[in-house]
This record gives sequence, structure tokens and C-alpha cells, in this order.
Amino acid sequence: MDLGAPSRSALTQAASEAHCRPNVKCYHGKPAANISHMPEILDAVLAGAPGDDLAKMPLPDSYRAALVKKDEVGIFADVPSPEKDPRRSMHVEEVPLPEMAPDEAYVAVMASAINFNTVWSSVFEPLPTFGFLERLGRESHWGARHDLPYHVIGSDASGVVLRVGSAVRSWKPGDRVTVHCNYVDDQDPMAHDDSMLASNERIWGYETNFGGLAHLALVRANQLMPKPAHLTWEEAACNGLTNSTAYRMLVSRNGARMKQGDIVLIWGASGGLGGYAVQYVLSGGGIPVGVVSSPEKVKLLEELGCRAVIDRKAAGYRFWKDEHTQDESEWRRLGKDIRALVGEDPDIVFEHPGRQTMGASVFVAKRGGMIITCAATSGYMIEYDNRHLWMKLKTIKGSHFANYREAWEANGLICRGAIQPILSATYPLEQVGEAAYQVHRNLHEGKIGVLCLAPSQGLGIDDPELRARIGEDRVTTFRRLGA
Ligand code: NAP
Repeated sequence: MDLGAPSRSALTQAASEAHCRPNVKCYHGKPAANISHMPEILDAVLAGAPGDDLAKMPLPDSYRAALVKKDEVGIFADVPSPEKDPRRSMHVEEVPLPEMAPDEAYVAVMASAINFNTVWSSVFEPLPTFGFLERLGRESHWGARHDLPYHVIGSDASGVVLRVGSAVRSWKPGDRVTVHCNYVDDQDPMAHDDSMLASNERIWGYETNFGGLAHLALVRANQLMPKPAHLTWEEAACNGLTNSTAYRMLVSRNGARMKQGDIVLIWGASGGLGGYAVQYVLSGGGIPVGVVSSPEKVKLLEELGCRAVIDRKAAGYRFWKDEHTQDESEWRRLGKDIRALVGEDPDIVFEHPGRQTMGASVFVAKRGGMIITCAATSGYMIEYDNRHLWMKLKTIKGSHFANYREAWEANGLICRGAIQPILSATYPLEQVGEAAYQVHRNLHEGKIGVLCLAPSQGLGIDDPELRARIGEDRVTTFRRLGA
């Protein structure tokens, strides 16, 4: 599904008419004389203005952003979890431009993407994110900026650098970038081995304010990465979070260190994480066994080159007899189905559904195998039969996003065309609630993109020759075959 974004004239109108008028919801306290400069900035970006020109353009005092509100965290109090609707809690409004710290940059966001953490933020589960902002607010002078009655969310972005702080060395205005979401304090000693081990590591746009689902974003310079030149803005924006996470889980020495010939069971293999995991296993010489939940998704995986696919809905696995009791015979049935497809048990299980699948994942992993987990979508209080873990010398390993180097390497593979974006649909920023709803209800495949400043899809390709060499069909597999 591809829905248009507001035109440039609509943007101008929104800026000049809606900005700070008394009848318009706005977090900006300043008078209406404060005109937004976003339309001029957008024109300059679209015209490919040099960085020096961009650096001279005035920044707006406020910008449009998708946000959730502190005074609304109770709106779903009586609503069962699956029925909580992001369309009720996500708003698109004007917010004031925050001050920039010396190690930060302002990015004009051309496109962003929905991640599952956007869904968590919007349904205030497992916790409202305002607690994270309050903690960050207590940490330092610059941290205090984040503790606000609204939270601008979003943990992915592609765009153009508009300004850099005085301590930034590697980036300058005009740079075309993607943003990864690891928000790390480099004064924490632990950050200097693996920054994911830093005690105050945070996910930008989830545990910090000023995220990517907006016309402007405030990021640390060490979140910036080059934009893949052959991709559109929306294709470039969809990779940062889940591609880097899948890379760490499977490829990095901090993850499962997959090797050639490894069999890897991938839950949600056409989802945001799984769509990259399948590609990493294939390109690393492994054998992916993808689990999905519809014939359309089976077809999509086959198109990606994943030959062994299980439709979990068609198979009708019932790992839980009831809320408290698991059924080992169902784990066994899954194990048999995997062996029937690839002849052996998985060396690695790529886990994220959590409570519903973890018992089965521990059971089906090979003797000495690894279950690598980064999430628990269906519940985080996990149960598995420990005998299968210790007697067969299996390992459960936790993984969380990626450090800068891992994100950079994963981005490099996208830049070279070795890994493809998995964008299946794009929504305008004004419909961000609907986009999050699609992900919450598992109605999507791959990633859903969001056009922020980009006036339409298909813009931002700087290297059409590389795109042609990689092949349009490969770059757009999920869009062609997605629902
Ligand atoms: P996604 O795009 O929604 O994909 C998840 C897939 O999992 C779905 O497409 C679905 O596929 C499958 N699934 C959902 N519930 C399931 C269940 N009960 N049993 C089996 N399969 C199930 O989400 P995502 O971006 O891949 O993220 C998945 C989870 O990882 C989320 O909880 C997210 O917050 C987390 N995450 C964590 C990190 C981290 O750094 N720690 C990073 C990224 C994501 P089928 O219906 O086709 O089977």
C-alpha cells in the first residue's frame, strides 16, 4: 500500500497557517510571528543545495512531529492489550526545536519508519516511555531537555544534516545520512568495549525524546551513517534499527557468530527483523528455515531465496495447551517439520516472539546450539524446560540493538547492495498512527516507511547506476510482493 505524502504546498500551508495559531494544538509557547522555515529548507534539500548554503539557512523555531502525550498514558487502562490502538494515542503536532548540544546534529528528516518500539510507545506498554525521559532528564544539563510532557518518537531516519555542534568532527551540513538508534554516552567507560554494555545506553526515539518520526531530528553525531546512495529516502530510512539488530544477532562476535552451513530457524521471517535475518543467513552461507503465518509470506520468502519455510498457521502448532501449560509433543512436531525440510536441527534459533515460542525454540535447537533472543513480543515471562538446555549444552544469549561499529558495518552492506531494504509500504507522517496500527496488528510485511519531509516516494536516489546493477526487482521485493 502506498499513500501519498503532503505536497510541498501543503507543507507551506501547514507551516504558515497552522503554526502556533490559538486554535491549533501546539506545544509551542511563542507568538505566531515565528514563521517556520521548513518549506525553504525542503526546497533547498530537494534542489541539492550545497552544505554551506544549508548551514546559512535559518532553522525554524518549531517543527512537525509524531508524539505521544504524558497526560494520555491512562487512555488504554481498560482496553485489552491487543486492542490498544495507536491511532488514538499518536498525534502529529508542532513542537519547539530543542537546543543542540556540542556533540549533536540537526537532521532534516526526509523519511522514517515504524519499529515495534513505536508500537510499544504508542500503547504505553510494557511501560509508558515518560519514565525513561524523566530519568534522562535527571542525568545532566543536556539530558533535562528530554523530560517533556510529550515524547517525539521514532528510531529510524534518513535525511540531510543541517547543523552540527561545535564538537562534531566527522559530519557537516549537507551530508546525506541515515541514523542508527544507539544513544551512547562516551564518558561511560563501559561504552569503550562494546557500547551496548554502557550502563546508560539508550534507544533514540524510544528512551530519548526528539526522535525520527518528524520533520527535524536531534541526534548525537555518533548516530550518523552515510545514506545508501542507490536508495530512495524511504528505502534508506527503514534499515537502521532492524538491520543492525539482525546483524549483531547473527554475524557479530557479540551475537551467534553464524558460520557457513549453519541451519538457522528464524521466527517472523518476513517481519522487520526476520526479513534481514534471512538475508544474512543466505549471504553468510547458512541455511535459513523461515517461520511465517500466511501463504503470501511463504511466497515472499521463496522469492528472497529461502527454500525451507514453515507456515505456522497452516501447521496449527499449539505450544501452549492453556495459559500455564506447554505441550512438548507440539515442540517435537515443530522439530520434525524442521528436520523434514533441512535434515537436521537448527544450530541457531533467531528468537523474538518470546513467551509463545521460547519453549519450542529451546527444544528444537541442536545439541550445543544457540538461541539468540532480542525481544518478547508475546510476553516476557518466559518458560522453557531447562533439562533440554543443560543436558544438550545449549546456550540462550541476549542481544540488544547494535554498537556503532556493528550498525556501520550493517549499513555498509546495504550501501554495497549485499543486503536489500525490506520496505513494503509507505505512509505520510500525518497517518503515522495508521502505520503503527498495521504493525501492531501484524498486518504488514517487512518494514513500513513514513514520509516526513519528502514530498513523494521515489526521491533521493543518488546512484541510479548502482541501483540498476543490483536490480530494481531485488531492491523492491517486499513492495512488489507485500500485501
Ligand atoms: P514485526 O515486523 O512485527 O515482525 C515480527 C514477526 O514475528 C511478525 O511478522 C510475525 O510473523 C512474528 N510473530 C509475532 N507474534 C508471534 C508469535 N506469537 N509467534 C510466532 N511468531 C510471531 O516486528 P520486528 O521489527 O521484527 O520486531 C520483533 C520484536 O523484536 C518486537 O518485539 C520488537 O520490539 C523487538 N525488537 C527488539 C530489538 C532490540 O534491539 N532488542 C530490535 C528490533 C526489534 P508471522 O505472523 O509471519 O509468523
